[in-house]
Amino acid sequence: GPDAAHGDAELLSANESAYQLDDLAGPVRSLPDRRFADLVAEQAGRTPDAVAVVAGDDELTYAELDRRADRIARGLITLGVADEDVVAVASSRTIDWPVAVLGVFRAGGVYLPIDPKYPENRVKTLIERSACRIVVADPDVTGVFTTGGMAVTVTTVPDLLDGDHPDGPVERTVTAGQLAYVYFTSGSTGQPKGALCEHGGMLNHLLAKIEDFTVGPADVVAQNAPLSFDISLWQLIAGWAVGAKTIIVPDAAIRDVTRFLETVRGAGVTVLQVVPSYLDLLLRHLGEDDERLDSLRIVSATGEALPIKLADRWFQRFPGVPLVNAYGATEASDDTTHAVLTKPPEGGVMPLGDPIRNVHVRVVDERLRLRPLGSSGEIVFAGVCVGRGYLNDIERTEAAFVADPVRPGERLYRTGDMGRWGPGGTLEFQGRRDEQVKVRGLRVELGEVESWMLSAPGVRGAAVVVKDGNLAGFYTAETEIDFTTHLATGLPAHMVPRSLRRLDVLPLNANGKVDKKALAAHAAPST
Ligand code: ADP
Repeated sequence: GPDAAHGDAELLSANESAYQLDDLAGPVRSLPDRRFADLVAEQAGRTPDAVAVVAGDDELTYAELDRRADRIARGLITLGVADEDVVAVASSRTIDWPVAVLGVFRAGGVYLPIDPKYPENRVKTLIERSACRIVVADPDVTGVFTTGGMAVTVTTVPDLLDGDHPDGPVERTVTAGQLAYVYFTSGSTGQPKGALCEHGGMLNHLLAKIEDFTVGPADVVAQNAPLSFDISLWQLIAGWAVGAKTIIVPDAAIRDVTRFLETVRGAGVTVLQVVPSYLDLLLRHLGEDDERLDSLRIVSATGEALPIKLADRWFQRFPGVPLVNAYGATEASDDTTHAVLTKPPEGGVMPLGDPIRNVHVRVVDERLRLRPLGSSGEIVFAGVCVGRGYLNDIERTEAAFVADPVRPGERLYRTGDMGRWGPGGTLEFQGRRDEQVKVRGLRVELGEVESWMLSAPGVRGAAVVVKDGNLAGFYTAETEIDFTTHLATGLPAHMVPRSLRRLDVLPLNANGKVDKKALAAHAAPST
């Protein structure tokens, strides 16, 4: 635990302590003493008529975005939102979404994104677990929140815009240590966990994206990630600090790669971040002499390991367009390292990159001592990026957020990722030390899926593995059970196994645990 870690620091020899301090740190930069939402207001003063955001046929200029966000903030405060109150935004990716997000930040609230496509059960769990009393919802999804007798106020962006509160900016001071948002991620014990991040970490990451991706007023940034994935936030708002334009790519164009490519070309997207499997899809769909990605100035892959072969293919096709491998975790305010590649990496290793500004990265052993160069260990993050912990969950918070043995008063976030400093000081990713997996970039705890399978009547045993990028479920039961519907009522679509198969027994390994390797070999190849 944290105390043991403090003890260890004292036991280190002087040499070791010096080495401990020699973790890899990003550049030191001072944070502006203003909120991100204020930076947007300042930008609106500079370029009021420039377009800030586009969603389908709708668009908002900076002046209009700024005015609407103030109306939302005033409306939320009138409804009783105080500092650090959680405000759920259950929005489709329409033009109302950015207005709601900026409004929540200006009101001093904590932004909780809820994908309205999530099953009702899941939505209720998130609302209950966050003790959220105010939901800003799409006009057509309000029903979900009012059932069950919870005292939740449901409102909409149009209602808040029309409310009879006064106009004008809201005077609220938001400090760097104040909570900015909470994203729920999959939890191994069957319950999702809410990762809390603060304004300082959020602002630092947004500024790192601007700095490392050199985002400027001429840029068009694509917003393509789903609302429940934390990368959706920087995609939506980062460009507003510098006068860039955000394009919210319609859901239909995300499902259909051809339409996605058309959208990129039509909007002249210059900055794009996708998960590796989507980058792969884009390249596969691009014909010879196809110009649909030619507007791109920089592309970033994130969320899971970026295959070297994919980077090779990128540079064969776009030798002049940098590819960034971005690595991080929701608990640490999104990406913490950026590897800005201008050619395929050498030595057969994909680097995770250097820490972003004001972030420290270390590779440590079980007792948080620095591992020697070249040896594997757990990757931990320190610095302004470290979030506050998990909402209403002291136990899991204390396990993952621990006192930094080197910098008193600071905390580390233990990622659960294994890695090492390779030759030349390159940070390498070496997989997980637990059962967290990624499905097309989205985070899934196999244990959470298994616990939902076990809650289906008649299921005795359950195990889930990843096969060819998809979840494959196995169960034991007296008879075949059709529980896809059961799973879909509690789990987001990406967590429902693509295939479910009954076995007489689950294979066990030498330790008596379910042998997941054997199961993966068993799973039908996905089509
Ligand atoms: P984020 O939202 O910041 O992308 P998540 O919280 O969804 O991250 O997932 C974090 C985990 O995803 C990391 O701990 C790691 O296992 C994996 N991951 C994220 N980016 C990369 C990357 N570039 N390379 C390898 N693994 C990655």
